[in-house]
Amino acid sequence: MAKHQFQTEIGQLLKLMTHSLYSNKEIFIRELVSNSSDALDKFNYLQLTDDKFKEENWSGKINITIDDEDNSLTIADNGIGMNEEDLINNLGTIAKSGTKSFVESLTGDAKKDSNLIGQFGVGFYSVFMVSNQVDVITKKAGEEQAYKFSTDGTGEFEIVPVTKESHGTVIYIKLKDEEKEFLSKWRVEEVVKKYSNHIAYPIFLNYWEEETTGEGDEKETKRVKKSEQINAATALWTLPKAQLKKEDYIEFYKTLAHGDDEPLTYLHNKVEGATEYTTLFYIPKKAPMDMYRADYQSHIKLYVKRVFITDDDKELLPTYLRFVHGIIDSEDLPLNVSREILQENRILANIKQTSTKKILQAIKKLKGEDAETFTKEYNKVIKEGIFQDYTNKELLLDIVRYKSSSEEGMVSFEDYISRADSEKKEIYYIIGDDEKVLRNSPLLEAYKKANIEVLIMDDKEIDTIVTPSIGQYKEWTLKDITTIDAPDSKTEEEKEEISKEFKSLTEKIKEVLGEDVKEVKTTTRLTTSPSCVVKDASDPMAGMAAMFAQMGQEVPETPLILEVNPEHEMIKKMNKLDNDSMFNDLSWILLDSAKLSEGLEPKDKSAFASRVAKVATEAL
Ligand code: ADP
Repeated sequence: MAKHQFQTEIGQLLKLMTHSLYSNKEIFIRELVSNSSDALDKFNYLQLTDDKFKEENWSGKINITIDDEDNSLTIADNGIGMNEEDLINNLGTIAKSGTKSFVESLTGDAKKDSNLIGQFGVGFYSVFMVSNQVDVITKKAGEEQAYKFSTDGTGEFEIVPVTKESHGTVIYIKLKDEEKEFLSKWRVEEVVKKYSNHIAYPIFLNYWEEETTGEGDEKETKRVKKSEQINAATALWTLPKAQLKKEDYIEFYKTLAHGDDEPLTYLHNKVEGATEYTTLFYIPKKAPMDMYRADYQSHIKLYVKRVFITDDDKELLPTYLRFVHGIIDSEDLPLNVSREILQENRILANIKQTSTKKILQAIKKLKGEDAETFTKEYNKVIKEGIFQDYTNKELLLDIVRYKSSSEEGMVSFEDYISRADSEKKEIYYIIGDDEKVLRNSPLLEAYKKANIEVLIMDDKEIDTIVTPSIGQYKEWTLKDITTIDAPDSKTEEEKEEISKEFKSLTEKIKEVLGEDVKEVKTTTRLTTSPSCVVKDASDPMAGMAAMFAQMGQEVPETPLILEVNPEHEMIKKMNKLDNDSMFNDLSWILLDSAKLSEGLEPKDKSAFASRVAKVATEAL
C-alpha cells in the first residue's frame, strides 16, 4: 500500500473545494464527464493510429450509476485509463501553473469562483464539494495492471494495485449526507443535459427502481436496474446550420467552455471544395484569466474527421485570437498528424487564414452593448493583432477603439474620420500613460480651440509600439500631435514676425537651460498655458523609439523643444524683465512645469520647488 501526500497547492485547493465553493456543486458531474470524454477521445485516436489496438471491438461510452442504498454515484468510461505514474502526476500534482493563479484569482464570491474551476482545469477536485470518499479505479490501455486511487479529500491519497477487466476509469463517489440530491435520477439527468448534452459519446444513466409483481399474497417488490441514454451525443458542429437553433449553440458552448455564460457571438462554417472542413468558433463575454500569461491555454480543439486530435496547439489561430473558443474539424488531414507536421501544414495554414478573417468579420459586426463588451475585454489584444497581422490590418483597424478628446466612450477610426476634415485627411493622437494628464495637456489647447478631435491613447506601453506601425487608416494619415505643428489661423509671415519679436527672449532662455533643451521657440499652439514641451520630430531617435521598446530595450530620451506662448502675460513680461536671477528662475519654471503637464519629471524636483517658492515670495 502506498500512501502519498498531495502537492501543497492541491491541499489548498481541496480545502477550498470542501469549505468555500458550495454554490454551484452540480458542476462536478460536468467536470468528471468531460474528463471521461477526453479519455475516450484519446483511446479513439489510439485505435485509429496504433496497430496494437486495431483488433479491439470498441465503442466509447460513459456510464453514470446511482446507488441510493450505498449513497454513491459512479462515473465510468472505457477510455485510455491511467497507470500508477499517471495517477500520481495527473491527480496528485498539478503541472500547470494555472492552479496557483486560480487560487490567487478567487474572488470570495462562491458562485463566480466555482465558474472559474473549469477554466483552470482543476476539474477533478470539484468532486470534493459533494464527497469526502473518492476512489478512482483505472487501467491504462495496453497495460496489465490496474490501480485504485483513494482519498478522503484531506492531505493524502493512497494507491493500491487492483484487478479490472478492461481499460478505462471508474470514479466512485460516496456522497456526503447533505448531498443526496445527486441520487435523484431527474437531478443527474438535468445536470448532464445542461452541460454535457453534446459530448460526442453516449452517456447512460443506470439506476434502481422498485418493481412490484403478482397480486395479493403473491405480491413481491424487487429492485430492478434500469439504464437509459440521457444525452444527444452528437458532434454539434457536424449538423447542418439550418437544423440548429441559437439555444443549441449556446448549450454546446457551455459544454465546450465549462461555463454557464452565454457567448458574445458565434460562427459556424462548413467549407467545401479543394479543402473541406468545418469550424465553430465562440467569442466569450469575458476574457480568459490567463490571457496575459505566457503559458495561456489554447481553447481551440482540432479534429480530423470527427476524431479529436489536440487542444494544445497554439498555432491553429493567430496568438492574438487566443481568447476564441471552438472547433476545427478537417476532412483532409491524415489522422496520425504529428505536431511537427501540424506546424507547417498547408491545409491548416489555409484554415487558419480563412478562420481569422471570418472571426474578425464577426467581431466587426458586433453592435451596441456587445461591441462595448468586446472593446472592454479585448481591445489590447486587438492592438497586438494590428502589430502582428499585416494581412488583416484593415479589419483590425475597424475593430480597435480609442478614447477621444471630444467624444464620450471609445471611438473607432471610422467614427473619427466621419467627423474630421476630409480635405486634410489626418488623424491626430497623443500617447501617454495617464488619461487625465493627456486630457489636460497644453498640447491639446490649440486642437480644442480649433474644434479638432484628438485620439487619447493612454495604453502607453502598447500604443507607443503599435500606433506608429499603423501609419494610415484608409487614405488618412495618423499624426502624433507632440511631433507636429499645431493647427492655428496665423499665416507663416505672422509667425515669422512674432518669432522675430521674441528672438532675444527665446535665445536668452536657451542660454539659461543649456543642453536640457534642444531649442526654445515661440508657438501659436497654446492658449492658456505659458509653455509646453514637444519632441523633436526631426530627431532620428524619435522614430526609432517604438523599435527600441519592441526589442525590450530602454527607449533613449529624445531631446525636447521648449515652446513658449507669446500671448501669455508671463512671456510678455519676461520679454521686458530686467532681473537676471529672476529670469533664470522663470526659465527653469517654464521648462519644468511644461514637463509636469506632460507627465514628465523635472530634472531637479527640489530645485523646482524652491524656485517656485522664491518667485512666489517676490510676487507677494
Ligand atoms: P484537466 O481535465 O483540466 O486536465 P483534471 O484535474 O480534471 O484537470 O484532470 C487531471 C488529469 O487527470 C487529466 O488531464 C487527465 O490526464 C487525468 N484524468 C482525469 N480523469 C480521467 C479519466 N476519466 N480517464 C483518464 N484520465 C483522466
